[in-house]
Amino acid sequence: MKKKAAPVTVDLFEQAVERLVALGKDADVSDQLMAGLSRPKAMLYASLPVRLDDGSTEYFDAFRCHYSQLLGPSKGGIRFHPDVNRSEVQALALWMTIKCALVGLPFGGGKGGVTVDPKALSRMELERLSRAYMRAMVDFVGPDKDIPAPDVQTNERIMGWMRDEYEVINGEQQPGVITGKPITLGGSLGRTEATGRGAFLCTEFLRNKEGKAAEDLTVAVQGFGNAGYHIARLLQEAGYRVVAVSDSKGGVFAEAGLDVEGVWEEKQATRLLKAVYCDGSVCETTDHDNITNAELLALPVDILVPAAMENTINADNVKAVKADWIVEVANGPISMEADLLLCEAGKVVIPDVLANSGGVIVSYFEWVQNRSGYPWSLDEVREKLEAKLSTAFEEVWQTQHQREQISLRSAAYSIALTHLDGVLRAKGTKEFFRNGT
Ligand code: NAD
Repeated sequence: MKKKAAPVTVDLFEQAVERLVALGKDADVSDQLMAGLSRPKAMLYASLPVRLDDGSTEYFDAFRCHYSQLLGPSKGGIRFHPDVNRSEVQALALWMTIKCALVGLPFGGGKGGVTVDPKALSRMELERLSRAYMRAMVDFVGPDKDIPAPDVQTNERIMGWMRDEYEVINGEQQPGVITGKPITLGGSLGRTEATGRGAFLCTEFLRNKEGKAAEDLTVAVQGFGNAGYHIARLLQEAGYRVVAVSDSKGGVFAEAGLDVEGVWEEKQATRLLKAVYCDGSVCETTDHDNITNAELLALPVDILVPAAMENTINADNVKAVKADWIVEVANGPISMEADLLLCEAGKVVIPDVLANSGGVIVSYFEWVQNRSGYPWSLDEVREKLEAKLSTAFEEVWQTQHQREQISLRSAAYSIALTHLDGVLRAKGTKEFFRNGT
């Protein structure tokens, strides 16, 4: 089997630190915090030998990063993707640190990944790879140390295999070692939809602030995977017109609005979004066009939802973006340069650390349920998610409005950094030891 080499065209981690330092200037925090947050606490690399179905052995690069544990154990997903590399894992772990601090979770930031195209593996090869990952990381993770979860191209079944491997090695039940598990293996109701639901709630909070009617707003979603599907579905149910969705192979557009549920069901059956409108029954009910991802990003819609990968909106294509609101469901979908240009153009960006935090919030709920041995109802999960996000959104909104000319991202970072700095100050920083303050 041929493994695609990871293209290292941009150093995502360098960019993430550069952005952290720039945004940190709006926050009155200690130099010690900024120095500490400019590097990961610990990083583990492992080469995973996996027996393939033809009897040969392939070696896969695997990473796990503890970025910060100032607020609690590290928390962050595991990505299976051909482009996974150390720099990407560290950047994603840094963003998890900011996210957990912003929404008030007792977690630090972490992340993990394997450089692999999981679609090229058989189901049994995928299971062997998932178990090999946990075997390599078994001393690095744990319910009080570092708690992984799903991310791009990993899912609840993979989380279930990893929980099982951890328990086989340690000889005890530890459901809280990983979140995003199947319900029957200790998962939480509402976890699968949580990232999309959280982003939907943030969009609703913004809509209420701006006094717009859902029926007047059109939406395009780039990246129709787990998170992208759930936000599209919920927006449509609330009355928004979802006119375009795409995946890595291309997209579909319908001026009158797509049947989101129908597109999703067809995609599950065919695994190919383009096939939906070319061959599926939805073809007969809705006029549509096939579009490229570049065309989707430039559509004259009100709301653009990048829900796929990093740096999707960058210096090369930012001028083409027409949407007034951008909801960052993906992590880091807008490059720093593009972000500044969008800000100057008066666009409103709900930043990733807020917009996609629903996933880690419900992962936290899952961990709490696992530790107390008391599962919650779906209503309870949804109510608590909404309460947490509403508080976080309001705080970000108020901070932005109190300080002139800062973005929602800048406000979000400022709140998160202040929270993290509080922990350092409680332990004593230079100011305390030198001046007694
Ligand atoms: P997923 O694997 O379920 O879906 C990703 C989708 O993006 C797929 O449909 C894929 O075809 C599409 N895609 C990939 N490359 C693309 C490209 N170049 N152009 C267009 N589409 C492309 O992954 P997911 O869990 O939905 O995650 C999506 C994003 O949301 C990632 O950035 C992830 O880090 C972020 N996120 C996910 C969660 C979660 O709980 N799953 C939580 C927070 C953030």
